[in-house]
Amino acid sequence: MKNGIYICATPIGNLADISERCREILREAEIIACEDSRVTRKLLSLLGIPFSSKTFIKYEDHTEAARADAIIALALGGKSVALVSDAGSPLISDPGYKLISRCREQGVNVWVVPGPCALICALQLSGLPTNKFMFAGFIPNKDKAREELFNKLKDIDATLVFYETAPRIVKTLRKAAEIFGNREMAIAREITKIYEECLRGPAKELIEHFETKEPRGEMVFMIAPSSEQDKDSRESIEELLREELRRNNLKTAVKNLVERYHFNKNEVYQQALEIKNE
Ligand code: SAM
Repeated sequence: MKNGIYICATPIGNLADISERCREILREAEIIACEDSRVTRKLLSLLGIPFSSKTFIKYEDHTEAARADAIIALALGGKSVALVSDAGSPLISDPGYKLISRCREQGVNVWVVPGPCALICALQLSGLPTNKFMFAGFIPNKDKAREELFNKLKDIDATLVFYETAPRIVKTLRKAAEIFGNREMAIAREITKIYEECLRGPAKELIEHFETKEPRGEMVFMIAPSSEQDKDSRESIEELLREELRRNNLKTAVKNLVERYHFNKNEVYQQALEIKNE
């Protein structure tokens, strides 16, 4: 095994999601840099990996830089270091980024051993657009900071992804309803565990759900892109227009749709012209 730092993703609920390669590296690595050595020791026990000869180093981005220097010195001195977090992918709302940044500066070998990551699994489960997304980490707990964050992100044309906790989700949904209105949202809960589920709908519906069912477990909160709603309504205007234009002339078709659905007249007229000119 080459010396350096191995960024190892560990399961977020289902032990069987550990990769063969990760298992191998955890077995071979002499040093394990982790958030909480009790959690990591438990994982190694479950995987049947002996750890009595391994050195565990507690690593957090905000602990003194000396800890990072010690890990780097070990890696440069020929040791292999597995970097793990309590669960999931290190560096993603978990420690490691500052360590890896210093490794880059000092020419330390760095390898990634990919695996479970709650935000990616949640996006996959949600069915919200995945071509562009923005991960914004944990939602702040303070009302003002939460509101400021949502206002800052509301016009971004990408699916927004956040980590959130069960006790705070209803408060978050209330603020999301206020700022994002009827936009489609999703909550992926207890991913890869027995009670995994993914709820979808506007904030109002999700709040109603949690009024009857207490929110529990780990969760990822997502909001559809700002353009998605516009796209849906553009597509539905087009469909309705085509139907109208089969029966009526352009002027009447536009008038009917504007009266019936309160669509923007200029927008409908433009779209009707495009269809006529096809
Ligand atoms: N680095 C980890 C990752 O990306 O998988 C995430 C660590 S972060 C400290 C923990 C947060 O990730 C939780 O509060 C929750 O929002 C989310 N999370 C972790 N495991 C989850 C799961 N099984 N189901 C849903 N969300 C999960």
